[in-house]
Amino acid sequence: MDHFLYRNGELHAEDVPVRDIAAAVGTPFYCYSAATLERHYRLFDEALDGTDHLVCYAIKAASNVAILKLLGDLGAGMDVVSGGEYARARAAGVPGERIVFSGVGKTRDEMRIALMGGIRQFNLESEPEMEALNAVALELGVVAPVTIRVNPDVDAQTHAKIATGKSENKFGIPISKARKVYAEAAALPGLEVVGIDVHIGSQLTQLAPFRQAYEKVAVLAQELRADGHDIRRLDLGGGLGIPYTRSNEVPPLPSDYGAMIKETLGHLGCEIEIEPGRLVAGNAGIMVSSVIYVKEGEGRNFLILDAAMNDLVRPAMYDAHHDIVPVAEPVPGGEPATYDIVGPVCETGDTFARSREMTAMQQGDLVAFRSAGAYGAVMASEYNSRPLIPEVLVRGDQFAVIRPRPSLEEMIERDNIPSWL
Ligand SMILES: *Cc1c(COP(=O)(O)O)cnc(C)c1O
Repeated sequence: MDHFLYRNGELHAEDVPVRDIAAAVGTPFYCYSAATLERHYRLFDEALDGTDHLVCYAIKAASNVAILKLLGDLGAGMDVVSGGEYARARAAGVPGERIVFSGVGKTRDEMRIALMGGIRQFNLESEPEMEALNAVALELGVVAPVTIRVNPDVDAQTHAKIATGKSENKFGIPISKARKVYAEAAALPGLEVVGIDVHIGSQLTQLAPFRQAYEKVAVLAQELRADGHDIRRLDLGGGLGIPYTRSNEVPPLPSDYGAMIKETLGHLGCEIEIEPGRLVAGNAGIMVSSVIYVKEGEGRNFLILDAAMNDLVRPAMYDAHHDIVPVAEPVPGGEPATYDIVGPVCETGDTFARSREMTAMQQGDLVAFRSAGAYGAVMASEYNSRPLIPEVLVRGDQFAVIRPRPSLEEMIERDNIPSWL
């Protein structure tokens, strides 16, 4: 459930007509619902009720500081994958003890930033990374809390670009090598082993791959404890999928996911961390765009929007489907039409949807891309010198621009012409 509904013939974001926001900020723009973000965070928090846990929002899904502050104020931890994301979490007021640092290639500079600013744990992914963090910690005179990300070699059955838990993926250490690598970590004086980490992919629509991975983690936890390691925390990653279409299969609910976690891992008495990103932010955001032209092609009609692949890359990058709906509610018996929905960028890949059936549209009409809150604004670029589009946050009947649209001057001023040119 989200808070983008038709009321009085107009799409609303909570209590605000989307058309009013478009009039105030111009299109295209992203719009997030505070109530939806809050609801999704609480679903996870409640799913783990009764177990010691921390929901660490994976901020790479949508990292605007206003969104991080909203979630942080509810008690969320944060999963960060770069020094930049760490700085964002801190700027949102999230204390270091609620921040976990993931990622396959943390640099020494990033490790230093997090160790000096405070960190709950590093999720390490290789032996060279272990050695680097050990060196940085010793240099700073601190001990770094760590888990090691194991690769359980399970098929997440998701898009190949976002599957991370098979042995051929670059992530983690093979689970078969885990005991050896944990022994090496324990021998490094700058590291303190606190648990195990696993993350098998994104947009998973079934529980079975999670279950397979977590069962392997449960076995490993017992083995590592027998080897003398104090395994007290399990970071189970993110990855729970969302429904991108109304008709599609319905992914598991956070409550079922939580129940499965308790069932597979509850007996270990560990503190549980989960890192949901997409499920928190995905259906909490839309992208709103205007129709620039309706173009009649040979055998097909094109809806040319003012948003493009640089603003929302998921269709071009992952062949992703987004529901695209008119902001003015279609009237029953309205004229139907079929469109290829495209942006203005000079690439055929700049296609949001092919042969999409919807109501007939005209120049200037507004459309909303549903489920655009995660991996939307954060993946945007200025390709074709199109300035990054603004982000807006709605709560009840209020809205605010949480990132403005840069002017063309601001975009160009970042370039520098050398004096010798
Ligand atoms: C991307 C990522 C997540 C979040 O994945 P979602 O599918 O958005 O829930 C969590 N943990 C790690 C390590 C990730 O790389």
